[in-house]
Amino acid sequence: MKKFLHLCVALLLLAGITPTALCFGEVTPFDVATLPTPDTKSKNSFIESMGPGKDRAMLALRYDRLQAVKHNKDLTEDKEAKAFLLTARESFVLPRNLPRAYDHAFLDIGYGVTISGPHLVMRMTSALDVQPEDKVLEVGTGSGYQSAILAHLSNHVYSVEIIEPLHERTKGLYKKLVEAGDLEYQNVHLKSGDGYYGWEENGPFNKIIVTCAIDHIPPSLLKQLAPNGVMVIPVGPPGKQTLLKVQKEVDAEGKVVISRKDVYNGRRSVSFVPFTKEKGGTWSGKGNH
Ligand code: SAH
Repeated sequence: MKKFLHLCVALLLLAGITPTALCFGEVTPFDVATLPTPDTKSKNSFIESMGPGKDRAMLALRYDRLQAVKHNKDLTEDKEAKAFLLTARESFVLPRNLPRAYDHAFLDIGYGVTISGPHLVMRMTSALDVQPEDKVLEVGTGSGYQSAILAHLSNHVYSVEIIEPLHERTKGLYKKLVEAGDLEYQNVHLKSGDGYYGWEENGPFNKIIVTCAIDHIPPSLLKQLAPNGVMVIPVGPPGKQTLLKVQKEVDAEGKVVISRKDVYNGRRSVSFVPFTKEKGGTWSGKGNH
């Protein structure tokens, strides 16, 4: 069914017509609501429901990892479980790490940076509680896996990466995945640059996810967070950050109130690669601005 829909959409796109342009005369994003829901009654029914031509061994590993992620309460809602099941993590890891694609571990993705493990990715995603019409900003595109998960939850995903060749590699990967029929990735907008400044032209964002470590919350990101928006960000020294959920609320008098909460309630810290500057070095709250 997914294949058939993708084929129809691909034919329309080839003809230069977007399906929504047909109805409204304008271009609108791929709607995540049209994504199929995999059958999760059993591992086998899940594999069958994903259709032919898929790597069954990888699908089995994906299904098994979901059970562990759920057991660990790194995700609790069906929508995040569906996003996890529809995202091929194996597409985003280096070929040499393919056998470890679904391990409970971070993996090297080249350029001295890493992709977080599936449990942490889903813990952060769940803390955001992404809705289809949310505008979501990610700082630290890296492999593109986190933005791919987000692209199954929101129709408007923006992501910034500071390492230009890594940005180019991930942009190329998304292009290939869209050409292969994963049209939800059309909703991922990538930019190379310093995410410390957010992506102002596309803000404000309902949700912001930062996947590199910093010792303070970047003021521009807080500014670009929409009223009632949520940001998830690892804050603290190298090797030991607190995963913060930051909420921006506007009270009855219109006053902005910022609240912070440890996503893990003090149970654990996290370790992300540093939030770097374009001219070298890392961002720090001390003496930078
Ligand atoms: N979310 C990524 C994780 C990548 S690791 C994934 O799913 O694979 C963190 C990424 O943050 C790295 O790619 C690193 O280059 C990037 N990064 C570090 N400082 C940055 C900055 N100032 N702006 C944008 N990206 C940055």
